Amino acid sequence: MQQYRDIKSRHQDAILFFRMGEFYEMFYDDAEKASRLLGLTLTARNNGAAAEVPLAGIPVKAAPEYVRRLVQHGLRVAICEQVEDPRAAKGIVRREVTETITPGATIADDLLDGSRANYICALVAVGEERRADGAGMTRIGVAAADISTGEFRLAVVGADSVEPLLHRLSPRELVVPSSAKRHQMPEGSRTALVTEREAWEFDAAAARDDLARHFGVHGLDGLGIGADDAPAVGAAGALLRYLKELQPSGVSLSRPIVERAGGVLPIDEMTRRNLELVESLRGGSDGAAGTLIDVLDRTATPMGARLLRQWVLAPLADRRAIDARLDAVERFYRTPLARAALRAALDGVRDLERLATKAALGRSTPRELRALGASLARLPSVRDALKDAAGASSASVLDDLLRDWDDCAEIAAEIERTVVAEAPIALGEEPTIAAGVDAELDDLRALRDGGRDSIARIQADERQRTGIQSLKVGFNRVFGYYIEVTKSNLHLVPPDYQRRQTITNGERFVTPALKAHEERVLTASERIEQREREIFDALRGRVGKDVARLHAMARAAATADTLSALAEVAAREGYVRPTLTDGFTLRINAGRHPVVERMMPRDKFVPNDVVLEADARVVILTGPNMAGKSTILRQVGLIVLMAHVGSFVPASAAEVGVVDRIFTRVGASDNLARGQSTFMVEMAETSAILHTATARSLVLLDEIGRGTSTYDGVSIAWAVTEHLHNATRCKTIFATHYHELTQLANDLAALRNFNVAVREVDNRILFVHRLEPGGADRSYGIEVGRLAGLPPAVLERAKRVLHLLESEQLSGARQATPAPADQLALFAPRNPLLDRLAGIDVESMTPVQALALLEELSKQARDA
Ligand code: ADP
Repeated sequence: MQQYRDIKSRHQDAILFFRMGEFYEMFYDDAEKASRLLGLTLTARNNGAAAEVPLAGIPVKAAPEYVRRLVQHGLRVAICEQVEDPRAAKGIVRREVTETITPGATIADDLLDGSRANYICALVAVGEERRADGAGMTRIGVAAADISTGEFRLAVVGADSVEPLLHRLSPRELVVPSSAKRHQMPEGSRTALVTEREAWEFDAAAARDDLARHFGVHGLDGLGIGADDAPAVGAAGALLRYLKELQPSGVSLSRPIVERAGGVLPIDEMTRRNLELVESLRGGSDGAAGTLIDVLDRTATPMGARLLRQWVLAPLADRRAIDARLDAVERFYRTPLARAALRAALDGVRDLERLATKAALGRSTPRELRALGASLARLPSVRDALKDAAGASSASVLDDLLRDWDDCAEIAAEIERTVVAEAPIALGEEPTIAAGVDAELDDLRALRDGGRDSIARIQADERQRTGIQSLKVGFNRVFGYYIEVTKSNLHLVPPDYQRRQTITNGERFVTPALKAHEERVLTASERIEQREREIFDALRGRVGKDVARLHAMARAAATADTLSALAEVAAREGYVRPTLTDGFTLRINAGRHPVVERMMPRDKFVPNDVVLEADARVVILTGPNMAGKSTILRQVGLIVLMAHVGSFVPASAAEVGVVDRIFTRVGASDNLARGQSTFMVEMAETSAILHTATARSLVLLDEIGRGTSTYDGVSIAWAVTEHLHNATRCKTIFATHYHELTQLANDLAALRNFNVAVREVDNRILFVHRLEPGGADRSYGIEVGRLAGLPPAVLERAKRVLHLLESEQLSGARQATPAPADQLALFAPRNPLLDRLAGIDVESMTPVQALALLEELSKQARDA
């Protein structure tokens, strides 16, 4: 217990798994917490004179499952092993924590999702104190790592850009200086485990040396890190130190990627959610269904899936970079055969990135190392297909891939030669190492499996040496192996024979060589396991040393996979290559919503044209509910976003002036979970847009100002539109059912009205989903209510109220807001009898029902 307490004192914030023989034991609070979370039986250990100690234990073999569950509860688990052989130990066995697993620091497959990175992020704020108006010059250094893939990113961002970055990365764990108060933490951190570290650990000067040493460079310039990046360097230093504590045997991180402002389009949380990029608004367990990523993800490998996700959440901001990507996608689009060959070749490529990391950490199982080898063995066919696709083109992305291509052939060959094809999931489950790799291992196996053969060989050798033709080698349990010589030949026995036993017919001897043989046979199994381990460790070590090469190829394969997947979707779904320009205009011909169109039979989706240009940059989009306003709004956002990702787009043609941000605010996405009213959230989000949007942004607003009274709502919507038109001057689409807003076109020169048309047939409405110039004259809300089955009485009443409102109050939205008294009078209840009468559907009544109703009504009239 003394040893336990020593170790526990250094791992206060983790559940300590304390190895005792074939069990991991937990004590005290750890035991109580774990037994509660894992449903383990809590027992007690008698601790000498002292009180009993709560105890819970789990078998070592079952540990991964328990670790997974604890970590998914957001806990850290420290694994404390016996680090010497208990048989050889004098006194208490030495124990050490060999690894601490946290949500952000794990390489365990069952804690990872193949299609997304698992980030741990360190954050540190530096810079001037906040000014009184709150607009300080704070800069935030961010370092993000995925230890399962070795990915390592640095960025320095302004205080207002940290949220989009964190939402993009969605880290499982945040590492922050202990001074950072929790409530100052960005929203994105609320779901992550927060780990506080001493503030000095974030010091950039000390971190420079640590990083340089870790990456084996003289100075950080070599890594593309400059003086301006100091905050990120500080964060990286703290992160590295923490990771090394968690993984004392070492972490494998690639050289950092430094993200520069302007490289990617920041996508804030509301836009990511509202455009349903990677998770649907409805959420649910199958989060990806009905999302953009679900449509686009035709990748063949996990690293491809992760890269695509990264591209979708961080579209490019630079036109040339986008065009380079589009060139590559177009090559694949135009070479269906090469594309199919590439995808077939990639099909057998497993998660190279994570498999390589495991090798580097000395943690791959035989099966995983073999899978790494088998995946590498496919690289030449991937390259050939890539070459065919590239052809003589000038798609620089493909050229770069091919120029730096490295088949890693000798690594693949060595693994395939060394490890058996059906490799076991754990070392020790023989065979792991193939025959013919190691002479000693082959001998050991021959010894064990073919004991008889070697005995026959020894027998033959001894016969020849002694000239005793009747000499026999035998075995019994008492003496082990022996040489038996008949009486008549005893005079030929050489001096090195040692007598062991006399039998009726002769004598039995042993020789040192025979004893050595016996020893070898008996210990062969043990030795085989040991030798396999040695050979496997050595191989894994050699492979692991090449982790940088392997990771580079994993990324190359991921890039080829992702580009060809985008081409595959484009071909299958009938997308076109968008034309990116540095101009302002956005022109979409026959655009479709990539997700909605897939939910209906082919060609049932109605395509629409949308143009936003300098002198017609704001569109007010009206039309009844269910007409398709939100769909058009989102489809414009998605098409622009897809273009920036470097994807083809669902349209017949698209000209896209490069934007710097896409904002999508959709009404009624209430955030009750965060304890804010819908309206408050809506206003906060709108305010964020008005503060951040520039003339180069695309702003998509759906139903702003809904969560308050009509007059409030119209007024706010009105003012927001004016501001976007006059001050921000950005491309804007505002979908609303306040058709009062269409009057804005009278004053605002670059504002256009459009509506999503409906047809009225036989007093019913028909949704045709077609966009037409001009505002909608009315909302048809009541008709939609009828479709939805509102009772006739309610519909009737609603019509009357609407009529009143339209005739008396809303002749123009610029009219002063009516006094509250008027509004009350307007909605004052009428005589309930009249309401009941109005709601009667005589045709559907039987005479008896009619009589009964009449009686009831007259009673009601007398009582009133
Ligand atoms: P609104 O925002 O006007 O209330 P939505 O955009 O939510 O309407 O569209 C309502 C439904 O109409 C969608 O769920 C979809 O099924 C259908 N729809 C919308 N646009 C189209 C279209 N262009 N073609 C075919 N169906 C569409």
